Amino acid sequence: MKYYSTRHSVPEADLKYAVSKGLAADNGLFMPGRIDTFDPSFFQTIDRLSFQEISFQVALKFFGDDIDHDKLKEIVFDTLSFDCPVVHVQNNIYALELFHGPTLAFKDVGARFMARLLAHFLEGSDSLVNVLVATSGDTGSAVANGFLGVPGIHVYVLYPKGKVSAIQECQFTTLGQNITALEIDGNFDDCQRLVKTAFLDKGLNEKLTLTSANSINVARFLPQAFYYFSAYARMEQRNKEFIVSVPSGNFGNLTAGLVAKRMGLPVNRFIAANNENDIVYHYLKTGMYNPAPSVQTLANAMDVGDPSNFVRILDLYGNSHEAISADIAGFRYSDDEIRSVIDKVYKQSGYLLDPHGACGYQSLEDYLNDDQVGIFLETAHPAKFTETVESIVGKGNIALPAKLAEFMKGTKQSIPLGKQFETFRGFLLSEV
Ligand SMILES: *Cc1c(COP(=O)(O)O)cnc(C)c1O
Repeated sequence: MKYYSTRHSVPEADLKYAVSKGLAADNGLFMPGRIDTFDPSFFQTIDRLSFQEISFQVALKFFGDDIDHDKLKEIVFDTLSFDCPVVHVQNNIYALELFHGPTLAFKDVGARFMARLLAHFLEGSDSLVNVLVATSGDTGSAVANGFLGVPGIHVYVLYPKGKVSAIQECQFTTLGQNITALEIDGNFDDCQRLVKTAFLDKGLNEKLTLTSANSINVARFLPQAFYYFSAYARMEQRNKEFIVSVPSGNFGNLTAGLVAKRMGLPVNRFIAANNENDIVYHYLKTGMYNPAPSVQTLANAMDVGDPSNFVRILDLYGNSHEAISADIAGFRYSDDEIRSVIDKVYKQSGYLLDPHGACGYQSLEDYLNDDQVGIFLETAHPAKFTETVESIVGKGNIALPAKLAEFMKGTKQSIPLGKQFETFRGFLLSEV
């Protein structure tokens, strides 16, 4: 399979190049050159397959040309050592729980897959790849845990001092081994700028192999299609129109769903559920895409003012606003609305939403008619946002999952750094 850049001004790349570089040299995002479809009969018997088996069938369509099939199967089965169950919430609304992985958020799927794929490509070589990742919380933990102990790879997690929750911080600062946490005296944008500048710095790139594990990387992006197929397989009421709502920030997760639909998955329509960072919501309404500085909300993993994967959506639909809005409906919710949704659903059904899932849930309630059935992606465990969620449903109502409690026991190790690029550059060079 060849991968082209959404900017079309560099030659097509192979999978290994696309995964090791992250971004194309013209700053475009890589897209698969073909999207193969499944025979409709596949969907008639899909419910007999396990999550891992379904995912392997999907992975073959993406990566089957490039990786030995036994190896690919091993990577997929090893990545998905946890389930993504469908849980009935109430009426015709279901949750696809993507938080049963090691860091309790959906990013575990893409990060674990990417780590294993990169390790496979590095097998037998003695080169060291340095993964740089800027995080506002969840990405850092998923990437650090996904790559933990993987030979040939060192991960640097850059995070803004004092701006991530204690639970999030301990998930990437207590690991040790091949993971280094850098506590940057600045905000998330500073962390992202440092990483982006490092990729462009010629001298640095001559001395070190650098790559990105943000959701622009195809090895993180495409595996997110797996769980859309398994969601369909595990649904009840499959004779009804199937609506899928995705709490969205950088739009990697939703775009993977659109790819799944292109492969034949019978999704009637997607919903892009936004918080107050509603750039795509306005695009869907008006056809105008106007990026804006992000605003802080309770669903902080969706606080993105210029979603990086939006160009992939434009590319998939040939820039047609009409085609895009036919496949995606938009909803947006304020912090007050998020609070009242969490409260309402907990009282009505006992189901505890996290602030991101709350946007997904409510958009289905606002959208669905009786002939439809809807599923929202519950992208993180509510315990990752204990303070917010307990302030709504009352203290003591969230049990801290054992996996999180384990992280909390470790000792925090991080290196404080200023936000000047020269400081960061000097640090990386001193690591060689
Ligand atoms: C990253 C994240 C999102 C947003 O996903 P995108 O693929 O960036 O749209 C939503 N919810 C949670 C909990 C996240 O960590």
